[in-house]
Amino acid sequence: MKHLIREVFQEEGYVFATGAADIAREAGHTRPARLASNENPFPPSPKAIRAATDALQNANRYPDETNGEFIAALKKRHGDYRFVASVGMDGIIDTVIRTLISDGDRVAVATPTYSYYGLAVRAQGGVTVSVPRKEDFSVDPDVFCRDAKGTKLAFLCTPNNPTGTTETIETIAHICENYEGILFLDCAYIEFDGTDYRPLMKRFDNLIIGRTMSKAYSLAGLRVGYAFVPEWYELFYHRAATPFTLNMVSQAAAAAALRDTVHVKTIVSVVQEWRKRFIDECPYPVVPSGANFVMVDVTPRTAGDVVTELAQKGVIVRSCASFPGLPNHYIRVSIGEPWENEAFIAAISEIYRI
Ligand code: PMP
Repeated sequence: MKHLIREVFQEEGYVFATGAADIAREAGHTRPARLASNENPFPPSPKAIRAATDALQNANRYPDETNGEFIAALKKRHGDYRFVASVGMDGIIDTVIRTLISDGDRVAVATPTYSYYGLAVRAQGGVTVSVPRKEDFSVDPDVFCRDAKGTKLAFLCTPNNPTGTTETIETIAHICENYEGILFLDCAYIEFDGTDYRPLMKRFDNLIIGRTMSKAYSLAGLRVGYAFVPEWYELFYHRAATPFTLNMVSQAAAAAALRDTVHVKTIVSVVQEWRKRFIDECPYPVVPSGANFVMVDVTPRTAGDVVTELAQKGVIVRSCASFPGLPNHYIRVSIGEPWENEAFIAAISEIYRI
């Protein structure tokens, strides 16, 4: 019966990196440093945990389909913008693509970057057009607009996964002004950087800013993403979305986490301190990063070799070799718990000296 499946799904889907974890386990590390997934190593706000526990009492009912409590918390946190929410930012990405892309439609992607955009576009019958970033991994807005011409939708990630590169507000404004499609600005990691693109929502009606509760807010396991959308677009988004996307436990936790501004501020400043230490103490060059991870250039070694050697020393990081458009000598290292970060610095220093 497999022949009945659409051709696009005959190929491989999203690839979860597991190889390094297996190597660490085989080398006898029962508790390796897990620095491969850009997770937040700190637990969620206790207020979020309490709200989620309370919400469970009502799980016999469907959740509020307007995501009322969460949207109200977003407005309190960010101001009077239009918001939509979904199952992670991945859920938002899927729904946005559904509203715009039919068979054969073209979608621009600033590359190298997060792989899910391409998978989601192809699943909807669309075709991706790669717009290469500059040598320093930033985006040239003129090149972007030229290469993205004729596409309906474009994805630009800032700070970018896996490079950590943050775009200036001017770059984004220039693209919004000159690009005829809709720009999806993926800001999954923006809390760790602080660049404020939000006011651009008031100037442009072709901008969507995607955000997530998975990173700075420590709620990856509850799958909550949201986006700032133009007023005209909100109605169409809801037409394309699945009903009751966000469950009531996630909604309650996300609203409480947003209200606990002290918790997130503390986490962000710890991550920023470690990011600086990674840059100062890693013997290999580190690409400037606005995220909770850094990309390290391990030349003259290959990413695969260094990932294996680190795993043997009990430190799991991600090879960037699978990101189209990146040469095979970059690794991505998430900022983890202090002991994990110390383990990375010690292990990479040993590898460098050999
Ligand atoms: N965008 C980027 C750049 C990401 O790295 C990720 C998570 N890996 C996502 C979106 C998806 O995040 P979420 O957990 O909200 O689905």
